[in-house]
Amino acid sequence: MAYDDTNVFAKILRGEIPAKPVYEDDFAFAFNDIRPQAPIHVLVIPRGKYISVADFGAKASPEELAGFWRAVSHVAELVGALGEGFRLISNSGPNSLQEVPHFHVHILGGKRFGALLV
Ligand code: AMP
Repeated sequence: MAYDDTNVFAKILRGEIPAKPVYEDDFAFAFNDIRPQAPIHVLVIPRGKYISVADFGAKASPEELAGFWRAVSHVAELVGALGEGFRLISNSGPNSLQEVPHFHVHILGGKRFGALLV
């Protein structure tokens, strides 16, 4: 499957639609989810054009991989989720109901979750 340049996160990266930024650097952009499902609900996306975590893992450079995952940890700290704990979710493909085909990680926190998120 080819990357779709019209997806909503590609538009956010190009500044075509607004987002509420939490953090950005050369590798990653983090912003608040428009429909939060927890008191803390931030999305972290790579700047590169990757559809899913598998696509990112297979094709991203070592610098992009390290930069992105460092940013995820940094954002979890920035939003105050490190101490009490948080969940990372990355939906990938139809069974997960992935809505936006640009790789992203959800950082969810600020509450105690159930044992499973299914
Ligand atoms: P997923 O199902 O993992 O693809 O999740 C996509 C997420 O993107 C959902 O939680 C949406 O609420 C969120 N979302 C969609 N459009 C926007 C937007 N314009 N700004 C912020 N978050 C968005």
